[in-house]
Amino acid sequence: MSRGFIKFLGTAGARVVMSKQLRSSGGIWICLGKCHLLLDPGPGTLIRCWEGSPPLDPTLLDGIILSHRHLDHSGDMNVMVEAMADGGFHPKGQVFAPADVIEGPEPVLFQYLRSYTKKINVLRAGAAFDLKDIRIEVPVRHLHPVETYGVKLFYQDISISCITDTRFFPGLIDAYQADIVMINMTFLKPFHSEKAFHLSAEEILPLISCLKPKAVLLTHFGKRVIEAGPEMIAGQLAKETGVSVIAAKDGMMFNF
Ligand SMILES: [Zn+2]
Repeated sequence: MSRGFIKFLGTAGARVVMSKQLRSSGGIWICLGKCHLLLDPGPGTLIRCWEGSPPLDPTLLDGIILSHRHLDHSGDMNVMVEAMADGGFHPKGQVFAPADVIEGPEPVLFQYLRSYTKKINVLRAGAAFDLKDIRIEVPVRHLHPVETYGVKLFYQDISISCITDTRFFPGLIDAYQADIVMINMTFLKPFHSEKAFHLSAEEILPLISCLKPKAVLLTHFGKRVIEAGPEMIAGQLAKETGVSVIAAKDGMMFNF
């Protein structure tokens, strides 16, 4: 019996791929149980929702999760909050985002849209939220230039981890054990510099070997990853780990 689906409205990672739209930056729609969630609505999300076949109606959404404020993740945040609330006429759904998206000198979320949502939740390490029939856990703060979190989603006996932007650190292994693991794979190789804030294919190999999920979905591809071929990299990772590894494509639907 199908428990839900994950639809990749976009698979773009970082600035160049987003700016040139080498891949769409539309974020990820997750349906789990009766709950519809949108993760990281980057630029173009609303268009990608409606132009899909079948289209996804934003008024179906119960929540929007923003992992961090960077533009390739948050460009359509305000657009999607309004669309979730049927243009603001029917306040609906919840927002989940780090504190600097909501407060501080330069919040991402417009003040006038806040009454369109039922609740605004602040993400922090160790937080957990119940939404309809699912549970959302925030295991750990990521290593990224701005405050960033991934999430773990639970419904009945199924769990899904979303490892968003981060440098590699060993705590990822304890944090993200799950049946299905989504990973933002932006680089091919690790940079040995303080400026490298994304996971690379080389670091994802031991991560998958330790996590041993039933399936891995790779997304958020940088330019070099796209040039090398995400499907080829996924194939190599699958071969070396014995785990099913799929490179997402724009518009791809994964049913589970
Ligand atoms: Zn980022």
